[in-house]
Amino acid sequence: MNEFRLIEQIQRETRLASSAGLDSGVRLGIGDDAAVLELPTGHHLVAATDTLNAGIHFPADTSPFDIGYKCLAVNLSDLAAMGARPRWTLLSLSLPEASPEWVQSFTAGFQSLANLHDVSLVGGDTTSGPLSVSLTALGVIEPGKQLTRSGASPGDLLVVSGSIGGAARVLELLQTGKPAEEQHLLDRPQPRVELGQVLPGYASACIDISDGLLSDLGHVLRASSCGARLELGKLPQPGILDGLENELKWTYQLSGGDDYELLFTLPRSYEAMIASWRQQLGISLSIIGEMEAGEGIRCIGPEGSLYDPQNTGFEHFSQAT
Ligand code: ADP
Ligand code: MG
Repeated sequence: MNEFRLIEQIQRETRLASSAGLDSGVRLGIGDDAAVLELPTGHHLVAATDTLNAGIHFPADTSPFDIGYKCLAVNLSDLAAMGARPRWTLLSLSLPEASPEWVQSFTAGFQSLANLHDVSLVGGDTTSGPLSVSLTALGVIEPGKQLTRSGASPGDLLVVSGSIGGAARVLELLQTGKPAEEQHLLDRPQPRVELGQVLPGYASACIDISDGLLSDLGHVLRASSCGARLELGKLPQPGILDGLENELKWTYQLSGGDDYELLFTLPRSYEAMIASWRQQLGISLSIIGEMEAGEGIRCIGPEGSLYDPQNTGFEHFSQAT
């Protein structure tokens, strides 16, 4: 099996399984020197890319299905955080050996998520080397509608989708050799693509939580020149954190990453939209605090006292990245 056979296999398996139909905008896909894509009239292109390296971003023995799913999920999450509609992807694969079985499982994982969002694979590059997967995702948006990190103002509500801290808990259990239920929290993050598309016009800023709430909220604060008040008692909690003492729970929720939920700020005048988005999209949305004048994050405990996240047991994360 050589490089060209592998490319043919990727082309065949992603095309056969693809649900992206004639309106996929692909005028020329895999097989020529470059792809030709038709943008919907009057739209702008939104581009994101992310690389996953074996041993750094995923354990070397991760199943190819999970790698295929996750490399797409993390990129769709970035497009969602911009408010874009995802359309196309380009895949750069570095493989230690040309294994058709590996590629088959990888494309199955990739396509299981691609189909949910009508995303097509339109090109890429295949090389031999240490296992590494680099994906570029392209999406479209109406001019000026993009959600940036820089638009938040004091008084805006701070809202997060889904629940947070679950992926970090699963990762730590696995890394300390303990069985983890709900491993899907780590392996199958659900990019909030539909949510991202209803937010433009309402949300003042948006980011996806990949590195942890404090870290990613910090990006919004710096870009928007604001501070924030975070109410720890309002952080949405996955079942896997039930029963843990607060300090440990908050460590996962504040500092753990990999949840790929959207964190956005919303002017108070749009507060009523939250309930209608919940209903329309069937997802959980929680108000977890408020933007403030000044700088930095003030964490408020359930009893109203100021809580210093430095006190959270960071040693719990000694093995996690
Ligand atoms: P070139 O040498 O002109 O770059 P390649 O042989 O690398 O061409 O690629 C041939 C075609 O296959 C191109 O259309 C390229 O986009 C596509 N391709 C290569 N590798 C991948 C991959 N891993 N996933 C999707 N498409 C790929
Ligand atoms: Mg090439």
